[in-house]
Amino acid sequence: MAKNFDVVVIGGGPGGYIAAIRAAQLGFATACIDEWKNEQGGPAPGGTCTNVGCIPSKALLQSSEYFEHAGHDFRNHGIEVQGLSLDLAKMLARKQAVVKQNNDGILYLFKKNKIAFFHGRGSFAGRSDAGYEIAVAGAAAETLVAKHVIVATGSTARALPGAAFDEKQILSNDGALAIPEVPKRLGVIGAGVIGLEMGSVWRRLGAEVTILEALPAFLGAADEQIAKEAAKAFGRQGLKIHLGVRIDTVKADRKGVAVGYTDARGEAQTLAVDKLIVSIGRVPNTTGLNPAAVGLALDERGFVAVDDECRTNLPNVWAVGDVVRGPMLAHKAEEEGVAVAERIAGQHGHVNFNTVPWVIYTSPEIAWVGQTEQQLKAAGRAYRAGTFPFAANGRARALGDTTGLVKFLADAKSDEILGVHIVGPLASELIAEAVVAMEFRASSEDIARICHAHPSLSEVTKEAALAVDKRALNF
Ligand SMILES: Cc1cc2nc3c(=O)[nH]c(=O)nc-3n(C[C@H](O)[C@H](O)[C@H](O)COP(=O)(O)OP(=O)(O)OC[C@H]3O[C@@H](n4cnc5c(N)ncnc54)[C@H](O)[C@@H]3O)c2cc1C
Repeated sequence: MAKNFDVVVIGGGPGGYIAAIRAAQLGFATACIDEWKNEQGGPAPGGTCTNVGCIPSKALLQSSEYFEHAGHDFRNHGIEVQGLSLDLAKMLARKQAVVKQNNDGILYLFKKNKIAFFHGRGSFAGRSDAGYEIAVAGAAAETLVAKHVIVATGSTARALPGAAFDEKQILSNDGALAIPEVPKRLGVIGAGVIGLEMGSVWRRLGAEVTILEALPAFLGAADEQIAKEAAKAFGRQGLKIHLGVRIDTVKADRKGVAVGYTDARGEAQTLAVDKLIVSIGRVPNTTGLNPAAVGLALDERGFVAVDDECRTNLPNVWAVGDVVRGPMLAHKAEEEGVAVAERIAGQHGHVNFNTVPWVIYTSPEIAWVGQTEQQLKAAGRAYRAGTFPFAANGRARALGDTTGLVKFLADAKSDEILGVHIVGPLASELIAEAVVAMEFRASSEDIARICHAHPSLSEVTKEAALAVDKRALNF
């Protein structure tokens, strides 16, 4: 017999499970369907983010950073490490344990919020007066009937044409997070967030890493000054990044992978590596969903077509996260999930896309919110810029991590903050102050006049805000 719900969420990643929690908080009878399986075949909710994305990548970034510190940086603090060695199996097992803690945490949250969880694939089966019929194909077949459906089926790595992922030599993010032995030579195609983070992990653990990027500019979405500073730092670390390349062929055999490419000067080159990570973007997951059964419209790129408020072409069917337009970020998916649940309840849920922060967890970390200097120039907006280097900050010196800077961009007349860009230690945490400030439409002077703890990295933020008015104190 069919089970009836007010809200059925298909997909249990950050978009889906958060939407389900908010819907349950608002008093709706809520179900969430997710098909991700752990190694034992059991449920592993949390989606890409928890299983093969944000969480495991940050676990490995942390472990590999400790390894690098122990090998290179501790001696600067007077700490000598003898016989340093890497137990990669243990590092990977720890990463998996962190993933499992998050999976279990989400299962606990489903119980706590009385959300019915179904482990299996959810697909549209039809529509009746009672609502949308959703078939669940899992350990047991079920049919759910929902007044409202939230599609949050996420995305999967895009493969290079003619070079399917085998997860042994040609790796997606999935395989890149589980290489059993540090490769001697690692190739990465795509110098975006995932390519840089994964390249950093394996370089720190000893691989010789070469990244090939099609775009002529490094980190084109970031502020140019920040991207340049980051490129210098990555170069010093030994990451080889070739821009403006065209990939021609990828051939894998027992010896490794040969990538034939044309470099920025138009010359044919070959990169021979042991493993190749392909991180050239992600495609929305809609095939298992059977959108045709109910006439759910997709856009020309295969994403579920939605308006600004995540409404699809069908009444009471919504879609959030990576499966719809917009940045593929876990926190964007979560915000959309909350907003949709609130809209279903007749409230005015809202996502401010201007204040969605971007973070790259490399070393130095890179984070930004709002507009870049090149975007302001292109829009003809009059602005003032202020920058302050971590090298002039006492806490950064004490940490032994003085790379980078904070940059403020503020409206020339009103002084409203238009963008904040950070490359440097803990940029991922520092950016939160800028997000709050922009959400409240603060001016750079507001930040400049706020008392910041000393000594702290946040003083660099304050000083950069002061620098907008050319009155930084410590530089
Ligand atoms: C290596 C890597 C690192 C990343 N790091 C970060 C980061 O640091 N910060 C950040 O903000 N973002 C990061 N991201 C991006 C982030 O993971 C995604 O933006 C986020 O997971 C999107 O959430 P979602 O809920 O839309 O989809 P997903 O997390 O992809 O979840 C979708 C879920 O739906 C399930 N599903 C799909 N179809 C069906 C179906 N028909 N029935 C049932 N279940 C289904 C999937 O199995 C999955 O569990 C990273 C991504 C990768 C790959």
